[in-house]
Amino acid sequence: MPRGMYKSGRLRKIFVKTPGGESTIHYRQRKPSKAICADCKKQLAGVPRELPGKLTKIPKTARRPDRPYGGVLCSTCMRKKLLQQVREEK
Ligand SMILES: [Zn+2]
Repeated sequence: MPRGMYKSGRLRKIFVKTPGGESTIHYRQRKPSKAICADCKKQLAGVPRELPGKLTKIPKTARRPDRPYGGVLCSTCMRKKLLQQVREEK
């Protein structure tokens, strides 16, 4: 029977096969939820779903799209925002 902290579902289970042929359960931290657009709440493409410690090991160019508001807004919301900014300047 697992300890109480392993029964809550806070950690994800990983089934590992031992050399003897039996499988044991290892527990790992769950990944965070997918990044969403700040405007329309759509899931963002090109943003990896990793723990903060692992994200620092990934190059910055692989962490978010390389454009204005990359990793914050989706491409359609970014276009709308940029157009709005240009119109407000005039
Ligand atoms: Zn959006």
